[in-house]
Amino acid sequence: MTETPQFVADPGGRVPVAASADLVVVGGGPAGIAAALAGARNGLSVTLLERYPYLGGLASGGMVLVLDDMCNGSEIAVRGLCADLIGRMERMGLAVTPPEGDRRSDPEMWRKWSRWGVFDFTSHLKPQPIVYAAAFDPDGFKRAANDMVGEAGINLRLHSWFSRAIVEEGAIRGVICESKEGRQAILGKIVVDATGDLDVAASAGAPFIEGAYIVTTVFRLGGVHVEEAEQFEYEEPEAFKAIDREAKRIIGGSWDKWWLKTPLPGVVWCNCPHMANYDGLKVSDLTRADIEGRKRIAALVEYLHAAMPGFCDCYVVDVAPQLGIRQTRLLEGLYVVTKEDVSERRHFADSVARGRDYYTPYRALLPRNIQGLIVAGRHYSATSSAQRMSREIPPCMAMGEAAGEAAALALEGGVALDRVDVGKLQSRLRVRGADPGDRPAPNATVLRAAE
Ligand SMILES: Cc1cc2nc3c(=O)[nH]c(=O)nc-3n(C[C@H](O)[C@H](O)[C@H](O)COP(=O)(O)OP(=O)(O)OC[C@H]3O[C@@H](n4cnc5c(N)ncnc54)[C@H](O)[C@@H]3O)c2cc1C
Repeated sequence: MTETPQFVADPGGRVPVAASADLVVVGGGPAGIAAALAGARNGLSVTLLERYPYLGGLASGGMVLVLDDMCNGSEIAVRGLCADLIGRMERMGLAVTPPEGDRRSDPEMWRKWSRWGVFDFTSHLKPQPIVYAAAFDPDGFKRAANDMVGEAGINLRLHSWFSRAIVEEGAIRGVICESKEGRQAILGKIVVDATGDLDVAASAGAPFIEGAYIVTTVFRLGGVHVEEAEQFEYEEPEAFKAIDREAKRIIGGSWDKWWLKTPLPGVVWCNCPHMANYDGLKVSDLTRADIEGRKRIAALVEYLHAAMPGFCDCYVVDVAPQLGIRQTRLLEGLYVVTKEDVSERRHFADSVARGRDYYTPYRALLPRNIQGLIVAGRHYSATSSAQRMSREIPPCMAMGEAAGEAAALALEGGVALDRVDVGKLQSRLRVRGADPGDRPAPNATVLRAAE
């Protein structure tokens, strides 16, 4: 009997060049969309690659249906392209945001809004304050992103799996992707890694750490009598708690509110189960997690039919086509953001993006050793615990917007990405309507120059 070999030779060979652009963005999630748009609005030719047949990444394909973590108290900290996207979805009737007058800590507002997921989940106030955030529909996100990318004249290439970075003499020259047409090369002067898993930077040889966190097969339920369910929650709180506790035990881990409303009547999204010990980069783990998640969802639905007022007619509309991977590889860039940086709201002089009340320095987007490459999104340069607190969709979009703008400045000035004038970058972002976090908010910790 012949043994199965451990390796086979790969002929590699010549690869056709399918596109060439000033800026190549790999990954069409929130960060990648924003990076591509920011590059294009400055006149760069942009090619945007995405493995799946739609834009939006975890926001749409992962069905993570609240854009949150964008407020520092009553101040909106993430604006720019994220605001444009929300506005478009609102005009389609596919996003819901609480009006200014409702944004406060108040039992009545809590009852009105908390099931939309639009509250400050970090606040210790009871009830947690309702804040500016957007509950949206995944197809609305895809359509709004398609419109924005189309209007900007971006060369969008869906169905294209990045496989390898092309690196020569310490600089990235483009990428190779796999497609139905076989291997294709996409060449670029600057490449943005927006894959969320740092696929491009890792392939290019940039240092990184391997983080991990819970994974989730997000799903939607239809046929929910939402008013009946909410009436039960508030009018029979003890009975509600007992059933809710059992539902969470069956699904296996969840935040406090495991189901949230969506803009579609009778349809709720469920940010659960929370499954630990799966590696978001391993095919066997991804496969196991998808299968395990579906099993748990089926068990939950059976229980809900029997026990939960408002859910007796519910059915599974869909399980997210993308497994909910929160964290895998994280860049070890020119600066690594720490948990204390985030929790103490440390302000950086080179801040180019904000989340809630935290700041992202430009250095956290730059790899240490590869020229022409910049990263944006959930794999930015941070420790594992810092990333858990700072990876929501709006701040990832803000990072993408900063990366695209930085690429334009570098190419205009003929300078390397790490030589870009950060003051200029910040003021350009401001002119475009974004908030780079250059002006520390009153609750920020401002570091002295030597720190
Ligand atoms: C279950 C769950 C719940 C969450 N809840 C919230 C929430 O309520 N609110 C919130 O704001 N955030 C939430 N988050 C966090 C948020 O969804 C992510 O951090 C955010 O989407 C990251 O954006 P990104 O663009 O960096 O990465 P992603 O959204 O992961 O996008 C990366 C894109 O790159 C593409 N890609 C990856 N590899 C390749 C490749 N090799 N070739 C080509 N394309 C590739 C992917 O298909 C994807 O489109 C949640 C996350 C999860 C998993």
